[in-house]
Amino acid sequence: MAKKLKRYALVLDSKKCIDCKACVVACKAENEVPVGVYRNRINVERSGEYPKLRTSFDPEQCHHCDNPSCVRVCPTGASWQREDGIVLVNYDDCVGCKYCIIACPYDARFHHPETHTVDKCTFCVQRVDRGELPACVETCPSKVRVFGDLNDSRSPIHLLLATRRYRVMKPQTGNGPQLYYLL
Ligand code: SF4
Ligand code: SF4
Repeated sequence: MAKKLKRYALVLDSKKCIDCKACVVACKAENEVPVGVYRNRINVERSGEYPKLRTSFDPEQCHHCDNPSCVRVCPTGASWQREDGIVLVNYDDCVGCKYCIIACPYDARFHHPETHTVDKCTFCVQRVDRGELPACVETCPSKVRVFGDLNDSRSPIHLLLATRRYRVMKPQTGNGPQLYYLL
């Protein structure tokens, strides 16, 4: 029987996030992301009224979509998707037209001020291919992030999604986002 392909994804337990931004710093260091731009971020939402105010934090980055609109609009093929679901930019072929920045419903891409290509989260593909976790996952002190192969029925990520309720952001886009937020 043919071996099932991997499908990498990220589960986030946002309620554990303390907005320390260790993941943002780790990503910057690992991927040499320049000052002023980011591959990941923490979305902060405030609700309620004084004195019952509530602040919640939702970490976000590229959702490595199943049906990525960024790949569809790229005129040069620079934006592409691996068989394991990771969406990448081939920087040699990127002409900096920014079509993909406009097409992404998650605001996950940015113009790299030094290379003048488009850039974004790669799930730290260089680490994943060595059998390591993405830098943000490894660094998070609150264990908010669980990365793994959805197609491996023994993986923690598979078990979490089989046993917990979750949501994805903007499912109506049809992009099939692969960042899963536990409820
Ligand atoms: Fe592309 Fe945006 Fe989806 Fe990432 S989140 S795969 S950049 S459409
Ligand atoms: Fe493709 Fe680069 Fe243009 Fe984006 S900026 S659409 S990745 S060529």
